[in-house]
Amino acid sequence: MQEEKVMEKIVSLAKRRGFVFPGSEIYGGLAGTFDYGPMGVLLKENVERLWFSMFRDSRDDMYGVDAAILMNPKVWEASGHVAGFSDPLVECEKCKKRFRADQLDDPKKCPECAGVLGGMRQFNMMFKTHAGAAEDDSAAVYLRPETAGGIFMNYKNVVDSIHPKLPFGIAQIGKAFRNEIAPRDFIFRLRELSQMEVEYFVPPSEWERAFEEWRSLMHLFATAIGLPEASVHELEVGDGDRAHYSKRTIDFEFDYPFGRKELWGLAYRTDFDLSAHEKGSGVSLAYLDEETKEKFIPHVIEPSLGVDRTILAILASAYREDELGGEVRTYLALAPKIAPVKAMVSPLLKNKPELVAKAREVREELKKVHPAIAWDDNGNIGKRYRRQDEIGTPFCITIDFDTLGENPDLKDTVTLRHRDSGEQERLSISEVASRIREAIS
Ligand code: ATP
Repeated sequence: MQEEKVMEKIVSLAKRRGFVFPGSEIYGGLAGTFDYGPMGVLLKENVERLWFSMFRDSRDDMYGVDAAILMNPKVWEASGHVAGFSDPLVECEKCKKRFRADQLDDPKKCPECAGVLGGMRQFNMMFKTHAGAAEDDSAAVYLRPETAGGIFMNYKNVVDSIHPKLPFGIAQIGKAFRNEIAPRDFIFRLRELSQMEVEYFVPPSEWERAFEEWRSLMHLFATAIGLPEASVHELEVGDGDRAHYSKRTIDFEFDYPFGRKELWGLAYRTDFDLSAHEKGSGVSLAYLDEETKEKFIPHVIEPSLGVDRTILAILASAYREDELGGEVRTYLALAPKIAPVKAMVSPLLKNKPELVAKAREVREELKKVHPAIAWDDNGNIGKRYRRQDEIGTPFCITIDFDTLGENPDLKDTVTLRHRDSGEQERLSISEVASRIREAIS
């Protein structure tokens, strides 16, 4: 498949099947914004739930917060974002289009009209707005450009309320906003995005061990969401290219259809943030080790995972086309654990009340395994299968007259159809339940 075509196909499937829609579409959209539809919401929730489970809930040293998006602007002054969260901007003197200079092959020539690009300036990517009725700079606030700021603001609250022992971490999923100069590549570069972030606080001497620990967990998470190992690469970010707060950064890159690009980041933020906020606020953010009575500012390891880039990586690696029953079909080979729908139940014919009643009964039974068991009695069976293939449903279950006992040997058995192979087998209802349970566990 041609790579450009693959992106077109993914975007089209995402819209057709209710995963991702362009934001405010009937007004012509808004660059850098997308909305998740019914299937997208389920997929996103499954990914986020898995992240919470692996990065927070399965550990004794992790806590959650859900911080406000709007914060005192001094947060972003102290963190260095007001002064330095910027990208290099160039503008074409002819067509007036703007570009990020570091993303151009030739930073002097317009890639759209070949006109001359004007001098470069730094463009701050934070969205600025006003809190309250005043519209002057005294009321200026920013939409957070990373969720991390809200975690640092709650470091002291967590220490004072929960009294965790170092090392410990705080995890949060939430929205972040970046006024990207050139949003692009579907949900890869957005102006409104979601992040799954951990700030893990350690004694300074332990940063390397913690860095390795989170690095391994990020790889485990990539595997758990079904990204092929061969498509995920680490890039050690060089001295000149790291964010202002980082002493070591590894970018996790993914082979997207449009090239190898950053998927997630892992950064050693040292004590930069807590020290800066201590200085900015005048409030001590030192940690007191109860045993040694030593007082110090913890250092921080930050695994930062963009939700939207994760969803795009999942869609790109799951997208498949093959030939089945003499027809070309499209399907998503999603890991059952994150698939929006786990199984679809359907009566062979929708105008036979006894089939419908039995199918409803089977669906209720399977819902005890997982609530995401769909119902579909629209069109012929082949069409129902195709629809489920495109949303990545691992199993389809059909109830026919044999289920009702027309063939006594097959009473209370159903047809289980497998998404990837299209193969079908005859199983009892309890066997089907076990198959689903096994696949998603
Ligand atoms: P890039 O170099 O691609 O602009 P970044 O290095 O600025 O990304 P970070 O500041 O490390 O990104 O943000 C952490 C994570 O948040 C990224 O690894 C990515 O998953 C996600 N992310 C960052 N910017 C965007 C964006 N504009 N749209 C979608 N996700 C983003």
